[in-house]
Amino acid sequence: MKYGIKSDFYTQNNTISFSSTDKINEGLDLETIPINEYYIFIKLTFSNSDIKYYSLKNTSSYSDLTYYTITKSNSNNKIDISFNQYNGIPYMNLCVKKVDSLPEDIYDFAIDPGHGGKDKGAKSGDYTEAELALKCGLDLKNKLEILGFKVFISRDGSESQTEDTTTNMYDENGRINILNKSHAKLLLSLHLNENIYNKKLGGIEVYAPSNCNLDFASSIAKNIVDDCGTNYSSLKSFKAEDGVYVRNFNNADILAYKTRASKSGYEPYNITTSTPYLYIIRETGGISTGAFVDGRNKLYGKNIFYNSNIGIEAYQIELGYMKINTDLENIVNNYPQYMDAIVKTIQENYIK
Ligand SMILES: [Zn+2]
Repeated sequence: MKYGIKSDFYTQNNTISFSSTDKINEGLDLETIPINEYYIFIKLTFSNSDIKYYSLKNTSSYSDLTYYTITKSNSNNKIDISFNQYNGIPYMNLCVKKVDSLPEDIYDFAIDPGHGGKDKGAKSGDYTEAELALKCGLDLKNKLEILGFKVFISRDGSESQTEDTTTNMYDENGRINILNKSHAKLLLSLHLNENIYNKKLGGIEVYAPSNCNLDFASSIAKNIVDDCGTNYSSLKSFKAEDGVYVRNFNNADILAYKTRASKSGYEPYNITTSTPYLYIIRETGGISTGAFVDGRNKLYGKNIFYNSNIGIEAYQIELGYMKINTDLENIVNNYPQYMDAIVKTIQENYIK
């Protein structure tokens, strides 16, 4: 069986660089690749029609990988991606096998109900964002489990209400590290918006990574709007598509981070204007999303996956605005419908 993936390439200083995609959710789809053993070669066609094949050697500091496909009909494939040698010739190998179940510490999906502990998030009357996000998260987890998926949740309400979840975020068992350790394929972080940009208009905002095909984010927003009697947010800043937002660091943000670093006496992070601003998206994607919390800032622990080729495709969903009554009432009364719309999107995209 032969598989071809077209790659973009460019040359510089006698070096050819190539990539099958610059997006984190495109390229070779490991979810659909049939069970078999594959050997990966680069096929180069020269202008005089000569064809040459090149094998691949891993000269990076990143190790071999094992990937488990999302559970479908109680079944998963295990994919080992490794670099080996045959008679001194290096090669890249991809081995797809069926397994009976996922290892204990590997999950299909992860849910992060925003805030928690001492941090209640946005407030409106008797309602707090932390409490509403938790209700939503538990409902979503339950619905996905009924469909046979293995779901990790970053908090389930049993956490201490006085714990400071902001400063322990990057501790060994802090939110970022436990989410990374779940090896989930998809992470949904559930929030409600705090500030009002417009006194009348609320609506849904789905924040996506910067280097991402936005179809999935777009269909979450669309399904919620279609099924839950809400609307796309009219917020213009960071808007990529209807209901879809991509927020990267801008120059002012970068300067603020640099100033903070020099005041606290550590080397500034290497942040660019393509680095995702939202930590949940950035710090759960490893090298693919520019995770950078490496422990140099002594206020926080260390994201042990910051320089890792393991990462999750993460989205932050702002379901509506706490301080806009129509949004708040709709979410309080109909949050199971919002979660149904998310489940529907997952089914449409991940069960093919
Ligand atoms: Zn929030």
